[in-house]
Amino acid sequence: MGLIVQKFGGTSVADRICIYNVANIIARRMKEGNQVVTVVSAQGDTTDHLLAKAQEISDHPSLRELDALIATGEQSSAALIAIALDKLGVPAISLNGAQAGIQTNGVFGNAEIVNIDEEKIRSYLAQGYTVIVTGFQGINAAGDITTLGRGGSDTSAVAIAAALNADSCRIYKDVDGIYTADPRKDPHAKKINHINYDDMLALCDAGSGVLQRRSVELAKKHSIELQILSSFQLMEGTIINEI
Ligand code: ASP
Ligand code: MG
Repeated sequence: MGLIVQKFGGTSVADRICIYNVANIIARRMKEGNQVVTVVSAQGDTTDHLLAKAQEISDHPSLRELDALIATGEQSSAALIAIALDKLGVPAISLNGAQAGIQTNGVFGNAEIVNIDEEKIRSYLAQGYTVIVTGFQGINAAGDITTLGRGGSDTSAVAIAAALNADSCRIYKDVDGIYTADPRKDPHAKKINHINYDDMLALCDAGSGVLQRRSVELAKKHSIELQILSSFQLMEGTIINEI
């Protein structure tokens, strides 16, 4: 029993079946007696499609409007998961970056989280809700929507885990852990059961796209152990921590 922050990437929420898969994972964790906060990415290639749409309109879209546009991807997956949970009879509520109190500095397209006012999340948890938070976004001091750079939902999840002092931070992917190379491209890639923050940062620098680098830096800063898991297979995954 505890407070779990878990994050699901774009592939893990890509369609109706995936959305129900995530909803069922959340329902299971709740049944075990946990409080659960789930951070989600946009479905599949939604972010790329939204960026392409903007390009169709203008080759110089403003960064502010691009952020307003691409933040909708996460908002839609968060709402869909809450709708699925409702259908399963689980009390659930979705919150976008602003609603969840995620405050950023002003940089459109590559903002950093400067603070999380986690009271709203805590109050819903205390009322028995499971909370679905949009990854990849926050709100700046001017009240504008800002996004955190591609892959930024990982960083949202770690920042929320830190703010809530969560007992566990689980990052669900379409692979079942960290590999020495991309297992979808290299048949000799080996799964790593355990890796420390610094070695993981080195993997990020070497081009591993499994986690946004900033999320690993943040996990290291706050000593948050990360568990990388598959949303499609029950396997052990990879643990990332200090040792
Ligand atoms: N949807 C955003 C992206 O594709 C954020 C994320 O997936 O973490 O980069
Ligand atoms: Mg994505």
